[in-house]
Amino acid sequence: MEILNKILEKIKEYDTIIIHGHKRPDGDCYGAQFGLKDIIQTTFPEKHVYVVGETSEYVSFVGSMDEISDDVYEGALSIVVDTAIQDRISDSRYTLGKEIIKIDHHIPIEDYGDYIWVDTNFPSCAQMIAYFFKTFSNELKLTKQGARAMYTGIVTDTSRFRFRGVSRLTHELAGMLIDYGADIVEIDQELSKESLEMFKFKANLLANVKFDEGFVYAVITQEDIKKFNVSQEDAAATVNYMGGIEGYGVWVLVIEYETEIRLRIRSSSIEIDKLANMYEGGGHKMAAGAKLNSFDEIDQFLNDARKYIKQYK
Ligand code: AMP
Repeated sequence: MEILNKILEKIKEYDTIIIHGHKRPDGDCYGAQFGLKDIIQTTFPEKHVYVVGETSEYVSFVGSMDEISDDVYEGALSIVVDTAIQDRISDSRYTLGKEIIKIDHHIPIEDYGDYIWVDTNFPSCAQMIAYFFKTFSNELKLTKQGARAMYTGIVTDTSRFRFRGVSRLTHELAGMLIDYGADIVEIDQELSKESLEMFKFKANLLANVKFDEGFVYAVITQEDIKKFNVSQEDAAATVNYMGGIEGYGVWVLVIEYETEIRLRIRSSSIEIDKLANMYEGGGHKMAAGAKLNSFDEIDQFLNDARKYIKQYK
């Protein structure tokens, strides 16, 4: 693929490369960021390679963010992974780089960057980085840390190989990462850790799930998060516990952050990305995110969700 050659050429050309991801990063964002850093740094030890952006406690075992000053961007290459739209890029300084590369697997809403590799057939962005590595494996190098990062990205974004986008290629590349040292038991243990606070929070959430017309939803406020003493990130992850209820193929978590209210929309039946588009959001067909301006908008959203889901019946 021409774009892969171009990306490698650009990586070779620049001495300083800064890798960005999205706001509120997840396992895949970390996996793609730290996987790519490992490949570049191990292959070209003389280059300066940085990973920047918000942190995630959940996948902190994958790597730590670098702190860099603005002048590092001078004459540098910015690579943004796993982020469909500019507004979601974590650390807006990516524009200070001389050129920008976008590598992403989300449904494209907006194009940015001088070189763009977007492919929605990949179920994770980490798999794209692993594919990039495999394509040039005769000249690129990778350590166990990089393999662990990408394997973590692949398993988290596919919910442990459960989603439709998972293919033979996914397993082949995951196998390749195991050959490079990714330890599946260690990674699973890291991802499965749960505190007592979190267990209680989960129980409370499940007790408060609302059953609507074809979908279920739950609302989490800042007060709930403080009361149960859980992290914002762990609270947001509870969206996954509402999936799989028979007759309710769509589930939504409405969660209040310090600065905004987010909708995390998931589906095992119909495509819901267009519902997310109605509320400043997007993502994937079966997993999308969006925003509400205030809790007053919940009723309107619930009405829109009912209408939207009805179309498919
Ligand atoms: P989340 O519920 O935040 O995990 O989002 C699910 C998917 O939708 C992820 O792949 C996100 O990158 C994407 N996403 C979340 N929020 C937005 C948004 N406001 N605009 C576009 N994509 C989003």
